[in-house]
Amino acid sequence: MDAIVLFGIQGSGKGTQALLLSKQISYQHINIGDALRMQVSKQTALGREVQAVIESGSLVEDDLIFRLLEQSLDPKAKGIVFDGFPRTIAQAEYLCKVYNVKLSIYLDLSEEEALVRMSSRRVCPSCKANYNLISQAPVKEGICDHCGTRIEQRKDDSPDAIHKRFEAFYQETFPLIEFFKNLGVLQKVDASLPIDTLAKQIYSLYYDPCPIES
Ligand code: AMP
Repeated sequence: MDAIVLFGIQGSGKGTQALLLSKQISYQHINIGDALRMQVSKQTALGREVQAVIESGSLVEDDLIFRLLEQSLDPKAKGIVFDGFPRTIAQAEYLCKVYNVKLSIYLDLSEEEALVRMSSRRVCPSCKANYNLISQAPVKEGICDHCGTRIEQRKDDSPDAIHKRFEAFYQETFPLIEFFKNLGVLQKVDASLPIDTLAKQIYSLYYDPCPIES
């Protein structure tokens, strides 16, 4: 099955862009962070196992991620847009064994800007809609536009957890740039662009990939 990977530092907007792209090209969107949080909120065996790890900002063990991935997959999907996966070289190797990776897009954003975005990020605990108090605030202060639930800050958007997540990003995920470049499928975009501009750019890369050469 064909796969497209969106990756970047937390706050780079990969979730928003992956959702838009998956709708445009009718691919399944797998957001592994959301899938993990769903397990936690349902308090499944896997959810109980990963809750503390997620809240601390560390990465969940690869085997648990692979298990969840298999559960999340729609066998009838035309293709998949992965968001938040892979995050380690071992995960990327697994991905390449199981899927045909057509394109991997690195959303490039400075750590400073990522920090500002994450500190102002809010999420609806009910329908999972994302907000940003600076750039994408809900119409009514503190209330989800879609379902009327009070929006909140994620536990792992606390300063300590953000720091840990950035550390995990630079140590584990950043090396994927070289990995995908060597595979001949890497593209890089400027994640500081407005959402619509970036979405158009990503959509056009799907049709005309011209990857960065190693
Ligand atoms: P996210 O919503 O993508 O920022 O993910 C939230 C948290 O879920 C991360 O900080 C990790 O604890 C965990 N997580 C998400 N994706 C992965 C992954 N591919 N590998 C390991 N842990 C992950």
